[in-house]
Amino acid sequence: MKQQPYHKRFVGTHKLSPDTLMMSYGYDPKFSEGAVKPPLFMSSTFAFRSAEEGAHFFDVTAGRVKLNTEETAGLVYSRFNNPNLEMLEDRLSILEEADDACVFSSGMSAITTAAMAFLRPGMSMVMSKPIYGGTSSLFSSFFPDFGITVVPMTDGLSVEGITSAMNEAARHGQLGLVLVETPANPTNTLIDISLVGGQCLQHGLRTGHKPILVVDNTFLGPIYQKPILHGADIVAYSVTKYLAGHSDLVAGAVAGREDLMFAVRKLRGLLGTQLDPHSAWLIGRSLETLSLRMQRANESARIIAERLREHPMVESVNYLGFIKPGTREATIFAKQCHSAGSTFTFNVKGGREVAFRILNRIQLIKLAVSLGGTESLICHPASTTHSGIKAEERKALGITEGTIRLSIGVEDPGDLLADLEQAMQAA
Ligand SMILES: *Cc1c(COP(=O)(O)O)cnc(C)c1O
Repeated sequence: MKQQPYHKRFVGTHKLSPDTLMMSYGYDPKFSEGAVKPPLFMSSTFAFRSAEEGAHFFDVTAGRVKLNTEETAGLVYSRFNNPNLEMLEDRLSILEEADDACVFSSGMSAITTAAMAFLRPGMSMVMSKPIYGGTSSLFSSFFPDFGITVVPMTDGLSVEGITSAMNEAARHGQLGLVLVETPANPTNTLIDISLVGGQCLQHGLRTGHKPILVVDNTFLGPIYQKPILHGADIVAYSVTKYLAGHSDLVAGAVAGREDLMFAVRKLRGLLGTQLDPHSAWLIGRSLETLSLRMQRANESARIIAERLREHPMVESVNYLGFIKPGTREATIFAKQCHSAGSTFTFNVKGGREVAFRILNRIQLIKLAVSLGGTESLICHPASTTHSGIKAEERKALGITEGTIRLSIGVEDPGDLLADLEQAMQAA
């Protein structure tokens, strides 16, 4: 990241917090007629001041020329760069404490582009389970056709669980990537990020090739979890969820070390998986309230999870705030998570029949997939988001026919409780 006056992070010696920087970082009003808010740059291409400048910008964009620290890369064409994308990437880097970030047209295109940047036919990768349904389908049914072996990891808490998956993958080809999602969608299963990171380093020392550790941080990040500080190489996001936070767009991002982001950005430019300027502009506005939105949703989620736990129709609640003290999970939670989040599942007695009866009687909460928006959403993972996974595997991962997923928004928690209680009563 190049340091410019609009990359100001201090007032005197006082370091500004990320919450504050979301209103200013990466944008200088003097470039835009004094407009306090960044304009939307709806332009596919950017005029060069001279032919020489055009040639230089292309050299930089293609990576043929390295910039010194005072220079910024000139704008070329919106598949490569665009002011709205760059501002958003600057702010995501701040939130994630990463060198750089790249934004994408969706969470899936972010994950796909990052994986393709570091995998080649004949290589292998490890993927944690459970994991977002789309990610699971992509790597279990598409990447293998390109000669990449994908080995699942169901225990990300013990050295044995992690190394057995990594060693199994390495038997099928050079281990290029370890992709984990923690807390996992939808069960909130935890993975020890620094333990996996340490095993990636050791694997690298033994074999001469360190696998890239990618952590999908959609559930808690970036406010309540910062995987890079725990040894992740790359953090991946469905920006659609908490970051954008209003259920009005689809976007993705990855953030990480400069050299890794260089490779990802280069492939993004080739594939054209970048985000559009309008969505980037909207997400910039969303980031201003990210911390407030997540705080409110988290407080409400705790109230609702506690009430659900006591409800006679509920068997269990997979809420991170309920981890038993003294367990391995409790240690990991204390180490890497700063809050229990606001997306969780609960299991009702009576399986799909009762779950559907509840869902069909909900009046306020929207019956929809996705999560992390200002409005609360409710869904049945086994028949929707995780329907692509075989029934036995789903069950083993803790997703039953009676599992209901809730994403708590910023409404009044009392209203949400009233809605859930009336629906359960009627069911
Ligand atoms: C939604 C989601 C994705 C996919 O993101 P899109 O923006 O829908 O492409 C990936 N990972 C997790 C954890 C998700 O919840």
